[in-house]
Amino acid sequence: MSSTQPRLVLATHNKGKLRELRELLRGQVPGLDVDTQVVDAAAAGAPDVVESGVTFAENSLLKARAVAEATGLPAIADDSGLAVDVMGGAPGIFSARWSGSHGDDAANLQLLLSQLSDVPDQHRGAAFVCAAALAMPAADGQPGREVVEYGQLEGVLLREPRGDGGFGYDPVLQPAGEDRSCAELSGPEKNAISHRGKAFRALLPAIVQALADTPG
Ligand code: IMP
Repeated sequence: MSSTQPRLVLATHNKGKLRELRELLRGQVPGLDVDTQVVDAAAAGAPDVVESGVTFAENSLLKARAVAEATGLPAIADDSGLAVDVMGGAPGIFSARWSGSHGDDAANLQLLLSQLSDVPDQHRGAAFVCAAALAMPAADGQPGREVVEYGQLEGVLLREPRGDGGFGYDPVLQPAGEDRSCAELSGPEKNAISHRGKAFRALLPAIVQALADTPG
């Protein structure tokens, strides 16, 4: 009988991200039961990590490293946000708290739209950006291997929110080549082109290798 012991931890409290990662890994690693052996930080008993880095990559690595150390298992984390061209990449790592209070999506989005109200259409380029990190636990006195990959979803910022789906800045980002905002795409449509999907898919070979190196 195959084991149900966790083998890979995703440093998140977001069940949607865990579901995405499990689907990405399904069938990719012989003997891995994604539904029981790929778990989130709470299920693995890992503590919350302060995101004190100044880049997406630093924050994703801080989280993955801390969870790998706490659990002794390979760990994955991501950090993402919106980067606006004319704002030099802001809100960037401050995306979730741009208006001052963490996670107030409506206030963040309204503040951004008002800041950009005078910016003409040809200068409204922006992208969702994601860094996804894998950290292996230290072994035999050696630090664990670390890998970071990136993904971007490029587009333009609309002048008014459109659509009811998604979260965060989805209603104001229209992907390049689309006539709908991210909030008007279905979940699978968004996942297929999203910054997070691209970063996790780029990390997949390193994840598969990490699991091969630490058989369950
Ligand atoms: P997190 O790294 O996934 O926690 O995302 C940080 C913040 O970036 C979120 O609170 C959103 O404001 C913004 N963000 C990241 N990804 C997306 C996305 O796919 N759609 C809309 N907003 C996003």
